Amino acid sequence: MIPFLDLKLVNLPHEAAVQTAVNRVVASGWYVMGPEVQAFERAFAQTVGTRHCIGVANGLDALTLALMAWNFPAGSEVIVPANTYIASILSISQAGLVPILVEPDPQTYLLDTSRIEEAITSRTRAILPVHLYGRCCLMTPIWQLAERYDLRILEDAAQAHGARYGERRAGQLGDAAAWSFYPSKNLGALGDAGAITTDDDALADRLRALRNYGSTQRYVNDCIGQNSRLDELQAAVLSVKLLSLPSENEHRRMLARYYLTNIHQPDVQLPPADQIDQDAWHLFVIRHPRRDNLRTWLQNHGIGTDVHYPVPPHRQRAYASLNTLSFPISEQLHREVLSLPLNSAVKLTEIEQICVAINAFA
Ligand SMILES: *Cc1c(COP(=O)(O)O)cnc(C)c1O
Repeated sequence: MIPFLDLKLVNLPHEAAVQTAVNRVVASGWYVMGPEVQAFERAFAQTVGTRHCIGVANGLDALTLALMAWNFPAGSEVIVPANTYIASILSISQAGLVPILVEPDPQTYLLDTSRIEEAITSRTRAILPVHLYGRCCLMTPIWQLAERYDLRILEDAAQAHGARYGERRAGQLGDAAAWSFYPSKNLGALGDAGAITTDDDALADRLRALRNYGSTQRYVNDCIGQNSRLDELQAAVLSVKLLSLPSENEHRRMLARYYLTNIHQPDVQLPPADQIDQDAWHLFVIRHPRRDNLRTWLQNHGIGTDVHYPVPPHRQRAYASLNTLSFPISEQLHREVLSLPLNSAVKLTEIEQICVAINAFA
């Protein structure tokens, strides 16, 4: 059996170093927002190449707090891809703003930048590009629109740790970026964790207050904040695992390269192969018109797969107001996408087996 993702195996190489870090935190007597969080924030900001990193409780909070920190008028609109993970859209709602969904490009699965301008209104305040599956959105047109219409850009970088865009890195492509360190991400904690990165000093100050009851000085509250702090244990674990992010991403790229050259099933649409070395390959997502049959076939060959995601956000009961809208490209993608095993614990020999099984599918 080749599981889609075995987190125990993913974390096994880090076990000894993580144990040491955990023991250090337990012995320190300091468990929330202490030296481990500061050290991780410094290291992650350096990895991303931004002035600031603000650790928070999870990726959804990272997105929500960034949107809250801009203090847009209630009811302001934020442009977001229709085929994203629902957290991108939930963050807009939770910040008291209105999500405006835009179709993706069916080749890259990323926000179709040619459709953004027609979605902009006088209420639009921000664009939320999602670097879905680990590939950075096409940013040049987004930068031009943001400039022309005075919009902020919040990158949803939850799937893009270590992704690059030309000379820049994910996290350097907007006014701020939101990160998740959920255990299954390219950089994953042993629990929930998240962060916001930015070069904006004032925004960073507001975020540091917002994540901690609106307070930067004990018992002094400057705004109505939340409790969304990163804890010392998760920060210590993340600092250990951050050291291996580049080599683990290289492993993902090696596996992706093998898939891209060895899957020959005629009805499979492969993800774009033009940026193999820039992509963080959080997921390896193919399309197939008979996705569910292919999934069962692989299951019968002992190969686990997953679907990211089976139901588009605008079809969820949570978004009744969006249920009547039609996004045919997103809906087709949700019917056809299939994620194949690809992570730091998968071996090349396993990818070889998976390719053989896919190519034998009739
Ligand atoms: C995982 C993820 C999130 C949310 O992160 P959590 O830490 O689970 O809250 C947001 N956006 C995208 C694209 C994600 O993949």
